[in-house]
Amino acid sequence: MEFEAVIGLEVHAQLTTKSKIFCGCSTRFGSEPNTQTCPVCIGMPGVLPVLNKTAIEYIVKTAIATNCTVAPYSRFARKNYFYPDLPKGYQISQFELPVAQHGHIDVVVEGEVRKIGITRIHLEEDAGKNLHEGIVGASHVDLNRAGVPLMEIVGEPDIRTPEEAAEYMRKLRSILRYIGVCDGNMEEGSLRCDANVSIRPVGQKELGTKAEIKNMNSFKNVAKAIEYEIKRQKQVVMSGGRIVQETRLWDANKGVTLSMRSKEEAHDYRYFPEPDLVPVVVDQEWIDELTEGLPELPDAKRERFVSQYGIPEYDADVLTQSRAMGDYYEACVTAYNQPKTVSNWIMGDVMRELKNANLEIEECPLSPERLAGMLKLMEDGTISGKIAKTVFEEMFKSGKDAETIVKEQGLVQVTDTGAIEKVIEEVMAANPQHVADYRSGKEKLFGFFVGQVMKASQGKANPAMVNDLLKKMLAG
Ligand code: ADP
Ligand code: ZN
Ligand code: MG
Repeated sequence: MEFEAVIGLEVHAQLTTKSKIFCGCSTRFGSEPNTQTCPVCIGMPGVLPVLNKTAIEYIVKTAIATNCTVAPYSRFARKNYFYPDLPKGYQISQFELPVAQHGHIDVVVEGEVRKIGITRIHLEEDAGKNLHEGIVGASHVDLNRAGVPLMEIVGEPDIRTPEEAAEYMRKLRSILRYIGVCDGNMEEGSLRCDANVSIRPVGQKELGTKAEIKNMNSFKNVAKAIEYEIKRQKQVVMSGGRIVQETRLWDANKGVTLSMRSKEEAHDYRYFPEPDLVPVVVDQEWIDELTEGLPELPDAKRERFVSQYGIPEYDADVLTQSRAMGDYYEACVTAYNQPKTVSNWIMGDVMRELKNANLEIEECPLSPERLAGMLKLMEDGTISGKIAKTVFEEMFKSGKDAETIVKEQGLVQVTDTGAIEKVIEEVMAANPQHVADYRSGKEKLFGFFVGQVMKASQGKANPAMVNDLLKKMLAG
C-alpha cells in the first residue's frame, strides 16, 4: 500500500520587543538567571498585567505579511497547567479569539510554488526555563524568559514532505526577519517548531492519527525528524500496529523520535477568558498604517529581481532570503551592471567565505562597491578570472580594495604577446617529448600545455592569448 505523509507545523516565534509582554522587564537573552524579573512575571499574587502595545503591533504586521485576516476584536485566555517554569500555574495565551486567522505563505520546493495555509496566529507569554546542568539533587528555575512575548503560528496540515517543512520554516523565518519582529535564531530558541506528522493511504481524504514532535533546533533537524517519523509510522502500520496520538521528542544525537507523553487535549487546559486584561481592539486605520510601513517582502522582491535583473528564479530566491543580502546584491549591481555575474560571485565566493568565517552578510568585510571594483578589473582585462579568485580571497581577508592588492602583489594580467611567447618557448623546450606527441596527433595534450604556461606565468597570462599563441607555436 502507498502512503503519503501529512504535516502541520506549530511555530513559536519570540518577538523582539525590548520589554516583556505584561511588564517592563527586559527581554535580553543570556543574562544571569532571574535578573530580569519582577512581581508580575514571577507570578506574585495581587499584581496585574499591562499589555505591551508593540507586541500587538508586531503580531498585526506578521498577520499582514502572511495574508491573514486581522480580528477587529480578540482577547486573552488562561491556559491552566502545572509546571515549575510557569509560576502562575497558568499561561496567558489566546484561545477562541486569536489576533489573526486564515492566511497562507508561498513555499518554493524544486522550482514549484506551493501555498501552505496558516490557520491562526495568536499571542502568548513564554514560560521560564528549568536548569539541570551542573546541579546535583535539584533543578533550578530561571524566570528571565517568563513573560517574553511569543507568537504561535499554527499551520494547516498542507505540507507533504520533510523538505517542504524545512522550506516553510525558512520562508517564515525570512518573513519575520524582513519585518523585524523576530530574530529567527533557532539555536537560542527564539524560533521553535513542533511538527505534527501523520500518514494515510494515498487517495484517502480523512487524516490519520498524528504524533507531535518537539525539540528540533535547526532546519536540518526539522527535516530529519519528520523523515524519521514518517518512516517509523509506516513501519508501525505495515506490521499491523496502530499509531497512537502522542508527543514525541527528537533526539538529534541518535537520530530518532522517542515517545514522551500522551497528547493532552484542549479541554485538559480548562481555558477561560483572562479577567485581568481588556480585549484587544485593532481598527482598520492602524492596519492600513502598518501595511503602509511594511518593507518589500521576500516574494515580491524575488519576483522583482527576476524581472528587473533578468536573473533565474533560483538566484533571485537565494539573494532575497534576507533583506541585507538583497541590499548587498543591489548595491553591487548598481556599481557594476552585470546582474548575472554579480549573482554568481555572491552565491558562490561571497557566501562560501561568509560561511567559512561564520559571518552574516551584514558583517561582510568586503563591501559591495569593492566587489564591483574587482569585477571591473576583470572585465577590462587587468586581471584574469583565475587571478580574480586570489584577489577576492585577499580582499575578503585584508579589507583592501582590488586595485591595491593587484598593484602590491604584481597580479596584473600579462597581455604582452612577446612575453607570453617567451613562456611558451620555455615550456616547449622543457617538454620535447610532449611536443613531438602533440605534433603526431595527440591533440589531447593541448590542455597540458595550457596548464604549464598558466603555471609558469603564475596565472597571470591572458588565457585567450595563451590559447591562440599555443595553437600557432605548437603547429610549428
Ligand atoms: P490539536 O487539537 O491536537 O492541537 P490541531 O487541530 O489544533 O490539533 O492542530 C495542531 C497542528 O497539527 C496544526 O498545525 C495542524 O495543521 C496539525 N494537524 C492536525 N491534524 C493533523 C494530522 N492528522 N496530521 C498532521 N498534522 C495535523
Ligand atoms: Zn517582569
Ligand atoms: Mg491545537
